[in-house]
Amino acid sequence: MKVAFIGLGNMGGGMAANLVKAGHAVHAFDLNEEALARAAENGCATYTSVREAVSGADAVVSMLPNGAIVQDVFAADVVGHAPQSALLLDCSTIDVDTARSVESTARSAGYEMVDAPVSGGIAAANGGTLTFMVGGSDAAFAKAEPILSTMGKAVIHAGGSGAGQAAKICNNMILGATMIATCEAFAMAEKLGLDLQTFYDISSKASGQSWSMTSYCPVPGVGPQSPADNGYQGGFAAALMLKDLKLAMEAAQSVGAKVPMGARAEELYQAFCAADHGGTDFSGIINTL
Ligand code: NAD
Repeated sequence: MKVAFIGLGNMGGGMAANLVKAGHAVHAFDLNEEALARAAENGCATYTSVREAVSGADAVVSMLPNGAIVQDVFAADVVGHAPQSALLLDCSTIDVDTARSVESTARSAGYEMVDAPVSGGIAAANGGTLTFMVGGSDAAFAKAEPILSTMGKAVIHAGGSGAGQAAKICNNMILGATMIATCEAFAMAEKLGLDLQTFYDISSKASGQSWSMTSYCPVPGVGPQSPADNGYQGGFAAALMLKDLKLAMEAAQSVGAKVPMGARAEELYQAFCAADHGGTDFSGIINTL
């Protein structure tokens, strides 16, 4: 299958490489020449514009920084330039309204499109073990599933257009809040004189257990290997957590949902990033507690 891939950064680079490994002809475009050169090393054919990359494509996958860019790229250079039979898949994390608006524009022009944001970071993108949450019609999902499964370990149909983005921001709102709660508990446990390994052994088998505790423990030397063991470098940047929490707050406002914990998590990550820690793994917020 001929797959156009737009946005070959930290995530898209590995995803495009996995499409190549699965036998697809990947036609890649990125504004950044270094990203494009890495894609070429990984077996992608590279192009100097989106329009060239999508020409004759069976599918178009995008992995871009934000909703404004996704809207621009699809409106200006994909819709009306890729064949109408091409399935469009946006894997970026963007707001629900923009995802629905881009899909609606594409559908009006005769295309099928899904939003398919991912859970899992750069290692999962490189390893082909992402989880995709997909919004779109049953027919579009059926076409998207085999393409996405070459880049992930799970592909889940969340519902109609925008449902993938809705699931993603609800999930990451839980993650932001539980990470802060887990960090608070470890910091308080230490002040109360508890040994942190002992507290982990108890809480990881008690009702305080969560992914933030047992898969991504924010304390160095406790629990499985995590960014805490690497000086909070690598992993999931706090700036990206803040981006997702901002999207969650916008979505909550648009539907009148009450999200006091999510709102507080957004404030705390805002302060953490403003203190120049945006590039640090999001579990590094423990050092402020
Ligand atoms: P990134 O900045 O590394 O990559 C984005 C790429 O898009 C860059 O190479 C950039 O040059 C390119 N780009 C920007 N505008 C473009 C345009 N108009 N045309 C073509 N290319 C363009 O970002 P990333 O970490 O790969 O994240 C991509 C998306 O994945 C974001 O929406 C992010 O929220 C989401 N995400 C990231 C992670 C993570 O751990 N990094 C995890 C889950 C989801």
